[in-house]
Amino acid sequence: MGDVRLRNYIGGSWREADLVGELEDFDPATGEVAALVPLCGAREVREAVEAARGAQPGWRAVGPQRRARAVLALREGLEARRGELAALVTADMGKTPADADGEVGRGIESVESAAAVPHLLKGENLEGVAAGVDVEMVRQPVGVVAAITPFNVPAMIPLWFLPYAIACGNAFLLKPSEQDPRPAALIMEIVDSIEEIPPGVVNLVHGGRDAVEAILADPGIDAVSFVGRAQTARIVAEGAVRTGKRVQALGGAKNSLVVMPDADLARAMPAIMGSAFGAAGQRCLAGSVCVVVGDEGRRAEVRDALVAAASNLQVGAGGDAGTDVCPMVSAAARDRLVEAIERVVHGERREPAVGGAGDGPSDGVPTELLLDGRGDAGPAGTLLGPTIALAGDPESELARDELFGPLLTVVDVDDLDQALDFVNGSRYGNAGAIFTQSGEAARRYRYEAEAGMLGVNVGVPAPVAWFPFSGWKDSIDGDLHANGTDAVDFYTRKKVITSRW
Ligand code: NAD
Repeated sequence: MGDVRLRNYIGGSWREADLVGELEDFDPATGEVAALVPLCGAREVREAVEAARGAQPGWRAVGPQRRARAVLALREGLEARRGELAALVTADMGKTPADADGEVGRGIESVESAAAVPHLLKGENLEGVAAGVDVEMVRQPVGVVAAITPFNVPAMIPLWFLPYAIACGNAFLLKPSEQDPRPAALIMEIVDSIEEIPPGVVNLVHGGRDAVEAILADPGIDAVSFVGRAQTARIVAEGAVRTGKRVQALGGAKNSLVVMPDADLARAMPAIMGSAFGAAGQRCLAGSVCVVVGDEGRRAEVRDALVAAASNLQVGAGGDAGTDVCPMVSAAARDRLVEAIERVVHGERREPAVGGAGDGPSDGVPTELLLDGRGDAGPAGTLLGPTIALAGDPESELARDELFGPLLTVVDVDDLDQALDFVNGSRYGNAGAIFTQSGEAARRYRYEAEAGMLGVNVGVPAPVAWFPFSGWKDSIDGDLHANGTDAVDFYTRKKVITSRW
């Protein structure tokens, strides 16, 4: 793409932003600047909202079947440019081609799921609630809806929202992450090529915090979908509520992988490695704590297996053949993680994060680095090898805070009771998994674990698009999840009509 200044997509045309500021969008593997991202604010957001408000009534009047056909055309457009989109995910975010292709494939599944929306838009009725009186419930679009998305899944997450929003008859505004917005820009190019989607129904505005604040403040936006860190989710949820918007804000995570004494380690290790270190640990479903259940002999066996498996992982550019652990999104993100590791390992105390866990190591057992990935940071300062720490204190920063990188913290426990106490002691409740051969242990785990997405012998339990995607507790502000029938509930308002004839 070269040194291109990205443009907004508003009202069916590509528009230069009024430059308040701009950010360099670089390849995390090389540090090369690929594009300049305009940091837009209230003026551009207003322009997009006006375009969306202008287009929405006409789009609502288009029948649900025709809107579904537009969604199917989007599916075809995405499929036709799938390779290009995945390559852009690798170049912009850093993940491997296989991971990027998986992401795009998952995004396309959301589009496929949204094509069935007419079926889900059907209402309900109850005849004869009184003499000659019938009651009917219909679903109508919310109006103009916005999505604010994170850096780590730059193609799929916009597709959790866009297809459902428009299939339900809304107009849509996307504000992608300013760190890697090029996949979103390509999705807009695909939208632009689809005749069935009229100008103004789908819009994109680039930017960071100012653009988000403008979205939250704009009275022309009726609902906001957000995915990102828990702190930002809270800001977005509060801001949206203040201006009377419907909101779903999916936040961060600290997911535990419980390894039972009977787990088959040969099968569990590849799943744990993929979960902890795939996409350099930058997934909301990443297993970042390994809760090892058993006596000291078993714990040592699991620790050795973890270190052996992680030592075999290849660290490098996402695009290099054989890479298992890709670069982190930026040198700043890597530095933050390395500082956290050093704080705990050197026994420094820290200020607790807002709503976060305790403040560093206990006075008892120190945290020990079992595998230290702090080596050559690569040309862009973004590489960090798989790092494994044995938590001295299970309440320490490494065991409890989301650090979002290739760090796996090991917490030792004696039994499943203690494992569940640790899992449920988290402020987060996004995901988690258990590795076991015992149906009884698996059943108890799935019954008691407080998280929205669980795996049994599955390390990355990402629900397919026909199911809701989200967590519990501080992993969400709001109640409706992304995808599936929750998306239709979020993007429609119910109206009940009582008639007497
Ligand atoms: P982030 O919160 O920094 O950014 C997300 C979005 O919010 C971006 O578009 C950004 O421009 C905007 N933003 C950032 N700071 C802001 C502020 N102070 N005020 C207003 N807007 C702001 O998140 P990120 O680092 O891009 O993404 C990684 C995070 O997303 C991780 O915490 C991860 O767990 C989470 N995530 C959660 C899910 C889920 O399903 N729950 C899925 C993917 C990622």
